[in-house]
Amino acid sequence: MIPYGRQDITAEDIEAVTRVLESDFLTQGPAVPRFERAVAAHVDVAHALAVNSATSALHIACLALGLGRGDWLWTSPISFVASANCALYCGASVDFVDVDSATGNMSVSDLELKLEKAKVENRLPKIVIPVHLCGQSCDMAGIADLASRFGFKVIEDASHAIGGRYGDDFIGSCRYSDITVFSFHPVKIITTAEGGMVLTKDPDLAERMALLRSHGITRDEARMDQASDGGWYYQQVDLGFNYRMTELQAALGVSQINRLDAYVARRHEIADRYDRLLEAIPVGFPARSPDAFSALHLYPIRVPAVMRKQVFDKLREAGIGVNVHYIPIHLQPYYLAMGFRQGDYPAAEKYYAETISLPMFPTLTDQAQDQVVSAVSAAVAA
Ligand SMILES: *Cc1c(COP(=O)(O)O)cnc(C)c1O
Repeated sequence: MIPYGRQDITAEDIEAVTRVLESDFLTQGPAVPRFERAVAAHVDVAHALAVNSATSALHIACLALGLGRGDWLWTSPISFVASANCALYCGASVDFVDVDSATGNMSVSDLELKLEKAKVENRLPKIVIPVHLCGQSCDMAGIADLASRFGFKVIEDASHAIGGRYGDDFIGSCRYSDITVFSFHPVKIITTAEGGMVLTKDPDLAERMALLRSHGITRDEARMDQASDGGWYYQQVDLGFNYRMTELQAALGVSQINRLDAYVARRHEIADRYDRLLEAIPVGFPARSPDAFSALHLYPIRVPAVMRKQVFDKLREAGIGVNVHYIPIHLQPYYLAMGFRQGDYPAAEKYYAETISLPMFPTLTDQAQDQVVSAVSAAVAA
């Protein structure tokens, strides 16, 4: 089976991890700050904190921005469930903004309409989480305008998008947001097995998230309510978690980020080749935005909804590990039980019904890609 995505692990990666195993620190050593500095330098942001997943990253980002009971968080229904669950972890409520039917990213015009209505009803969101679907940035300038007009905070869920750009900036620079989140799950652009990161320009948010990452514990006397008892002393000043990344993961991350640009360039080569080879085949594509350079985490095709299951099944039978991104979050049983209904977000539901993600990862060979293209050709003809 040719998977839809997979990691690339080199001899250098293995050596980097092995060196950590032979070192004094398996956790809380020098590799985590080294990885954080490498990512921060790459995307040009002041603060970067590594955590054990993007899910944890979203959780502490929401808490640092003060999300709690009685608050609303809005996100896109076309995402992984973690983009919405983070609100529920904080005791807040979730609502969704429908997507742009062409790109699958959050629709800024729908967001504006929904904000105007929410303002009248006095239930404006505290946080909006746009998701850079497939690695392509949302319209962040548009979202930032609305954020200042309506007074909400913005967390970019850039789990798909490290290495991508919006205008002249790397995604993660937080030029148009308060916090950006990356995922390093093995199917994503670079991997630490499990892992994530929060990025921000704001030193206060960074400090709060650093506390939340590790039990709310500080060893910094300036943050204690009394003088230190001695060299052993620490204080718990907030309720945090153990969301720390290990040294093994961070060493893998440092080794992987050296290849980030090469990976994204290779994904573009693969996408260009798919574009050419699929030109003669009757399938559609999500739109590409001219002001965004996608990290190309995913390469979805679109087929009529009535054909989708059949095309998917035929591709799987042909050994192509296609997948679908995503089942709309509001249609998950857990969310239906909160009162969401089929039909609530028509563009998202249509996007879901029509898309299939083809294999897309840097080590995909031309030969394997040819196999995918002939399987697609046969599947849509059948
Ligand atoms: C993968 C993913 C997450 C969760 O990432 P983890 O690191 O697995 O916790 C969140 N949001 C989106 C959009 C994702 O694709």
